Amino acid sequence: MGEGRKPEWMENETKHTTSSILSGKGHSTGEFKQKRKPSRPVMSVEQLTEGVLRQDRATLARAITLIESQAAKHYEVAQQLLQRVLPHTGSSIRIGISGVPGAGKSTFIEAFGLYLCEKGYKVAVLAVDPSSSVSGGSILGDKTRMEQLSRHPNAFIRPSPSGGTLGGVHRKTRETMLLCEAAGFDVILIETVGVGQSEIIVRSMVDFFLLLVLTGAGDELQGMKKGIMEIADAILVNKADGSNLPLAKKTKEEYNQLLHFLQPATKGWETRAYTCSALTGDGIEDVWKVIQRFVESTKESNVFFERRKEQAIEWMYTMIHDRLHTTFFQHPRIQELLPDAEQSVKEGTDTVTSVVDRLFSAFTDS
Ligand code: GDP
Repeated sequence: MGEGRKPEWMENETKHTTSSILSGKGHSTGEFKQKRKPSRPVMSVEQLTEGVLRQDRATLARAITLIESQAAKHYEVAQQLLQRVLPHTGSSIRIGISGVPGAGKSTFIEAFGLYLCEKGYKVAVLAVDPSSSVSGGSILGDKTRMEQLSRHPNAFIRPSPSGGTLGGVHRKTRETMLLCEAAGFDVILIETVGVGQSEIIVRSMVDFFLLLVLTGAGDELQGMKKGIMEIADAILVNKADGSNLPLAKKTKEEYNQLLHFLQPATKGWETRAYTCSALTGDGIEDVWKVIQRFVESTKESNVFFERRKEQAIEWMYTMIHDRLHTTFFQHPRIQELLPDAEQSVKEGTDTVTSVVDRLFSAFTDS
């Protein structure tokens, strides 16, 4: 594994915003234009496909930038590229990692990623950051993170796509994952922050979902949303080191007791809590053993493959919903009618149902 690497794979990835590859959008000053590097020659779908399959990191980065673009002309090429690489996807292990800010996600991913890289695996780290779609800001991306891992020749780190809806971020991350698989990555780690919908999105694209938690259970544990525990395949009590170790062990037991009463996330697999220290590396190897055991047993029972199929179907419906939503709201006639529709509803001159009926008639008739 990891053979045929190119030195340019060691290039550190920078954050690509959609606007950076669209012509001057959001950057209309002459000063900016002068500073812009001359644009690189356009690559054909064939060149992009060949580069990704050849595991060329620079081409992979460009292909992902294309996927992340919101320009219609990029969308077409991106879809053609995906179609071509599709037969080469699917052979990685996809792992989701979530936890509240400060739980130690980036420290853990750095330690775990390096451990895997040293074992010869090629590791891609992607992120789904809900804040990047809401405010353009970022919970996960901006600070310098995973410095050592980002320098490792077997690793590839890509921050969360920014801008657009969470649905848009979902599509881009899923398609980026496929590109990474086509480029030979064996393990895909998808990081997200445990603050709401984003972990459900990540769960819908991974095989194994790992939840990082902190010690000091008690009240916190009581208040913890059952929902997130029910989508986890393992709960990892991080920072089990130094004087925190006894408390971490106690927290682990408390989680294990609670897990008895919950539905397991994966059929035939018992979700359990473990401890680790991302700082000292204690327990990191055990996490990998748990994941390997999971993959082995779910492949044997076929649950692994069934889930992937279900995820693909779910993905199809998500895309249909997204497409319908966009098509409807971007329709010129709907945009024209919406202000009046709002007004009628606000003033109570029409029922909501009749307003919606009118809008849909206008949409389907035109
Ligand atoms: P994130 O917000 O979930 O990505 O958390 P970070 O990885 O940035 O970690 C938050 C803080 O916890 C940092 O100061 C880390 O150094 C610290 N930290 C992370 N993992 C451990 C650990 O295993 N043990 C200890 N003692 N500190 C840790």
